[in-house]
Amino acid sequence: MTDIIRLLPDHVANQIAAGEVIQRPASAVKELMENAIDAKATVIKLLIKDAGRTLVQVIDNGIGMSATDARMAFERHATSKIQKAEDLFRLQTKGFRGEALASIAAIAHIELQTKRPTDELGTEIRIEGSKFTYQEPCVCPEGTSIAMKNLFFNIPARRNFLKSDTVEMRHILDEFQRVALAHPAIHFYLFNNNNELFNLPPTNFRQRIVHLFGGKTNEKLVPIISEDTPVVKIGGFIVKPEFLPKSKSLQFLMVNHRFVKNQYLNHAIASAYEGLVHADQKPEYFLSLEVDPSTIDINIHPTKTEVKFEEEHSIYALLKSAVKHSLGQFNIAPTLDFSKDPTYDIPYQYKDREPEMPRISIDPTFNPFKEETYQRSSGDTSHKPASAFNYNYAKKAATWESLYNELPSSINFEEPEVVESSLFSDELATPQTKKIISLAKKYLVTTLGGDLIIINSNRAHQRVLYEGFMKSLENSHTASQQLMFPYELPFSKAELDTIKALKPLFENIGFIFNIAPDKIVISGIPMHITDSEIPNIFNELLQQHIEELPTTENSQKEAFAKALCKNLAIKTGQVLSDEEQESLVNNLFSCQEVLISPFGKRIYYNLSVGEIEKLI
Ligand code: ADP
Ligand code: MG
Repeated sequence: MTDIIRLLPDHVANQIAAGEVIQRPASAVKELMENAIDAKATVIKLLIKDAGRTLVQVIDNGIGMSATDARMAFERHATSKIQKAEDLFRLQTKGFRGEALASIAAIAHIELQTKRPTDELGTEIRIEGSKFTYQEPCVCPEGTSIAMKNLFFNIPARRNFLKSDTVEMRHILDEFQRVALAHPAIHFYLFNNNNELFNLPPTNFRQRIVHLFGGKTNEKLVPIISEDTPVVKIGGFIVKPEFLPKSKSLQFLMVNHRFVKNQYLNHAIASAYEGLVHADQKPEYFLSLEVDPSTIDINIHPTKTEVKFEEEHSIYALLKSAVKHSLGQFNIAPTLDFSKDPTYDIPYQYKDREPEMPRISIDPTFNPFKEETYQRSSGDTSHKPASAFNYNYAKKAATWESLYNELPSSINFEEPEVVESSLFSDELATPQTKKIISLAKKYLVTTLGGDLIIINSNRAHQRVLYEGFMKSLENSHTASQQLMFPYELPFSKAELDTIKALKPLFENIGFIFNIAPDKIVISGIPMHITDSEIPNIFNELLQQHIEELPTTENSQKEAFAKALCKNLAIKTGQVLSDEEQESLVNNLFSCQEVLISPFGKRIYYNLSVGEIEKLI
């Protein structure tokens, strides 16, 4: 028998290695941006097309490469950053494995232009799936531009594994944010399909956070009281407990200016918040640790996001105490922010601009004498300001008994025997004053047609609001209340992009606003909400839509209505007046669907006398 072991050709080995380093367009974003930082660039531009499928390009003004180096750079294990094994423990650079460019060149089309400041001419190189197809001197600016096109063109299976554009773009944004946060002194740009999403001029750490995550972040931050020990230097910001979200949270831990994931240290931070936050709230932080490079190992994983510390336990304890200390300080005294840069208050886009006249929108179809689509509930005589509670879309203020009577008899529910109870018994014919009792600030209990009805008030209100919002979303002329003073909400560029896409939906439910470069200016809001509810509504809707934008118009409307009613529905523990209780029951029974909440939960339960008799 002949020998059967063979060495894999380089291009095959590179493709296999690429699987570890480049999983998706975002991995290339990380590697190319890190190379630009290692090349000492002060301005780095990231250009994306089609969520990175068609193009990921990084342009830097760094040290550039010679013609020979430019060619060498694409060989596997080709690096200028380390020479011997010991160098691994003195790392000051992001890269050192010499794998990224070889991997990217194995699975995409590459166009490179690079020039050192001392050279007259630069070098242009093109590669397709590890094959050099072109190399010539060229005229180009100092620095390097690497364009990666048609990712996975030669590995269809990997291409098919990519997620939707929204998801891939989310990953790219995550990587961009991580790199930009770790290097506030570098000027970063991000263009997506030729739209400028971010323009982040050099600044301090706090302002970089604000530029990335929107103006509203500033008030949420508490600076870490700097812990400077021989083991570790800790700096950065944590988010005040009252602002912590329940869903996705912003957690950024940088070690020697490299974003890392470390469950153990994450636990240290979370445990410092213990007792101050609800169990389902996750801490948010932007922390920067500096340690002696010889005490860490970042060589554990090809993507270099995991890190092992020699002094793990000491760092855990120091980090926990630093976070606790800062939270404590913040609790007793408001934070004074001495590092605040006064230029921050005027966004740079506005610096030299003339102020704009506020625009007022009016609803030309509004007729005060027309029958109102939105009216207060029949029992509401208190003339309170419009609030979410009073959102009654029912045209006529019918009593719930009669509406209940009109319900279709075939309500499809898992426990049909309950529904078949004496809904239409004779007792309905003898009207009596219905008393509604509130139970545990969670349920409303009443009788109906001889049955005892127990209603979950939160779910009932969700249903009422949901059907109201769905109607508004179908109807393009929804009345809105004009705000006396425009309400401003700051947002990041990426968030504003999403808001722009959702603007027609917002308008359908009565929000009137203009989009400025770093915020929205709201001049009108739906009739049934109050100013204080605005930030929550926007944040909830954005959160949901950023995660995964529903594609069909109908499911978008549904998602939108759901997010709104989740936010605005009365919560367990909220005390309702007698009128409010009655109005809620009335409104519930005038809904198209009365038994199931928009989130698929049962709204009420009815116990017939027969069933009660079985019990007692
Ligand atoms: P590593 O970063 O681990 O060294 P890479 O494959 O990412 O490996 O890059 C290989 C080499 O190419 C780097 O060591 C560096 O010398 C050179 N290089 C890559 N990108 C740039 C750039 N943007 N500017 C200058 N040199 C670069
Ligand atoms: Mg690299």
